[in-house]
Amino acid sequence: MKKFAIITDFDGTITTRDIGNALCFHFGTMKPTSSLVKDYDTKEDPSIWFNKFFGPIKANQQEFESIILSYAVVKKGFEEVAKFAQEHKIPFEIVSGGLDIYIKPILKKYNLPPLPMYCVRGNLTPKGIKVDFPDYPTTPLDDFKAQRVKYYKNKGYTTIFLGDGLVDLEAAKEADILFATDYLAELCDRHKIPYREFKDFTKLLKMLKENYVSLPA
Ligand SMILES: [Mg+2]
Repeated sequence: MKKFAIITDFDGTITTRDIGNALCFHFGTMKPTSSLVKDYDTKEDPSIWFNKFFGPIKANQQEFESIILSYAVVKKGFEEVAKFAQEHKIPFEIVSGGLDIYIKPILKKYNLPPLPMYCVRGNLTPKGIKVDFPDYPTTPLDDFKAQRVKYYKNKGYTTIFLGDGLVDLEAAKEADILFATDYLAELCDRHKIPYREFKDFTKLLKMLKENYVSLPA
């Protein structure tokens, strides 16, 4: 039996769409364009990007949560994977460039076990959203995601990583088993990185069950 550790992105990986982008489109701070992914330079100071797109967003807590929840749909099987991981003591963590102020209410809605999470901290103020990066203050997000995968690899785990975007590429290169979708899948094709395409978490759930539960012959 393999000893798995699961590291996953949040926006567009756990949820069917990127909630951060949906919020920016909602408040008009960002326009939906096909070149969106190129706007996020992983080596640039992320506070510049966040202040540009999230800085002007003004909403109170209640209004903010109702907007996010109207956009948030968690992919099929995620809840089961989270619960399965907890029952079988499989490390399962979220490593995200998104904001805690939208990730937490979404997870809460689904009544999930508490998951270790690394993300950006947001604060709703009358002047707009202020952000802070206590989880990875000096490391670019893509390198930090890769570090989390390496952390479990060094402890002898078979690492499973799930992602959908450019900032997931470095972690994708490190993972033993990679689930990729959308732009990350395109990048993996381009860089010849092997991956399993995924639409939701049902494939991963099946894989975990096959490994951890002895199925009848
Ligand atoms: Mg993502």
